[in-house]
Amino acid sequence: MSKLSAIRGMNDLLPEQTALWQKVETTARQILQSYGYREIRFPIVEYTELFKRSIGDVTDIVEKEMYTFEDRNGESLTLRPEGTACCVRAGEQHGLFYNQTQRLWYTGPMFRYEKPQKGRYRQFHQLGVESFGFATVDMDAEMIALSARLWKALGIDHQVELQLNTLGDKTSRLRYVEALNEFLQPIKDQLDYDSQQRLDKNPLRILDSKDANTQALLKAAPRLHDYLDEESTRDFSELCARLDALGISYTINQNLVRGLDYYNKTVFEWVTEQLGAQGTICAGGRYDGLVEQLGGRSTPAVGFALGLERLVLMLEHWTEMAQQSQAPLAYAMAQKPEFSPELAAIIERLRDALPEKNLLMHCGGGSIKSQMKKADKSGAAMAIILGEQEVQDNTVAIKFLREQRDQVVLAQAELIKFLQENG
Ligand code: ATP
Ligand code: MG
Repeated sequence: MSKLSAIRGMNDLLPEQTALWQKVETTARQILQSYGYREIRFPIVEYTELFKRSIGDVTDIVEKEMYTFEDRNGESLTLRPEGTACCVRAGEQHGLFYNQTQRLWYTGPMFRYEKPQKGRYRQFHQLGVESFGFATVDMDAEMIALSARLWKALGIDHQVELQLNTLGDKTSRLRYVEALNEFLQPIKDQLDYDSQQRLDKNPLRILDSKDANTQALLKAAPRLHDYLDEESTRDFSELCARLDALGISYTINQNLVRGLDYYNKTVFEWVTEQLGAQGTICAGGRYDGLVEQLGGRSTPAVGFALGLERLVLMLEHWTEMAQQSQAPLAYAMAQKPEFSPELAAIIERLRDALPEKNLLMHCGGGSIKSQMKKADKSGAAMAIILGEQEVQDNTVAIKFLREQRDQVVLAQAELIKFLQENG
C-alpha cells in the first residue's frame, strides 16, 4: 500500500515552524489592536457566485485558480481564494456597514490552483485588513502606515519597498482602457500569449505583464495618469503628501493595476527582492464600489492582504530565536516512579500560581540520567528534581541546565517565588 501524503501545494506546518508563525501572528495582532482593528471570522467555503461577482469573471483567479465543486445539493461552492469578498459578504449580511464605520481584520487559509513553487502554494495563508465607511485618503494612509509598522516590528523594513498607484474612478479608467486598447490592437501580434488573451477581455492587466518584450512595447503606451479624473488626482497627491509627512517612502508605478477587478483609486504593493518572482508580500487598495456591487448600499472601503508564507520566508533566520522563546522554564522529574504523583501535584500548584510559565512534567518513568537527557533536549532552563531526601524534607532540588550555577535545594513553599524571580 502506498503511503498517504498531503495534496501538492498544500503544506503542513510542523512544530519547529509554528514558533515563527506564532511570532508573526502575535506581532501583527498587537499592531492591529493598537490601531483599533477588530477580528472577523468567516467560513472557508462560499457560494461560487460571490467570487465571480466580486473578483471579476476575466481574472486569473476566477478563470483558472479557483477550487470549485458541487456539493450534494448540486450547489456550486468555492474554497475561498481571498478574503475581501467574504468579508464584504459577512459584513453586509450582518448589517455591519449600516450607518457605521468598521476597521476589521482576519486571517486564515486561502486556496488557489496555481503552479506550486517557492512562495506560491495552493493552500496559503493571508492576513487581511479591511475598513469600511471611510471615503477619504486619511484611511488609505492609515492602512499603509499600519503595514509599514509591521515590517518595522519584524525588522524587515529595509528589505521591502512600497509601490503606489491610483487607478482613478470607474469612468476615467474606462476612458483609459479604451485608449490603451486602441494603442495595443495594431501591435497585438507582438504581445506575449497571455497579453493577447487579455487584450479583448481585460487590457488593463497587460500593464503588469512579466514579459520583457511586452513591457518594452508598453513604454510608448498612453499613461494612465493622463486620463485620471480630478478627484482621483487630488486624492492621490494628498495621499503622497501624507506618506511624505509620515516618513514612508514609496515608488509611483503607473503600471501597478492589481489582478482583481474591484479596485479603484489607490492601489499599492509591498515588494521585496528577496523572494525572486514571488516578490509581492502585501497588496491592497481602495474598492469603493464592491459593497454596492454585491447588493449593499454604496460604502467606501480600503484594504490589503498580506501573504504569510512569503513573510515567514523572509524571516526564516528568526526560526531558532522563535523556538528558543518557546523553550520551557523548567523540566520536572522524579527520582523514583512512586514520587511522580507528588511531583505532579507540586507542578499543578505551580501552574495555578504561574499560568504564564512553561513547565514540562516528565512522563514515562526512567532513570534520573535518562530524564536529565530529555530535560536538556527540551531546552529547559532548569530541572526540578524530587528525590528521596526532598520528599522527606518537603523540598525540591533545582539543577541549572544552561548556566554554571550550583544546584540548590528549596522548600516546596518557596518554589513559586523562586520561579518568578528566575524565569
Ligand atoms: P501574485 O501576483 O504573486 O500572484 P496576487 O496579485 O495574485 O499575487 P493577491 O490576490 O493580491 O495576490 O493576494 C495578496 C497576497 O497574498 C500576495 O501579495 C501574496 O503575498 C499572497 N499570495 C497570493 N497568492 C499566493 C499563493 N498562491 N501562495 C502564497 N501566497 C500568495
Ligand atoms: Mg496570483
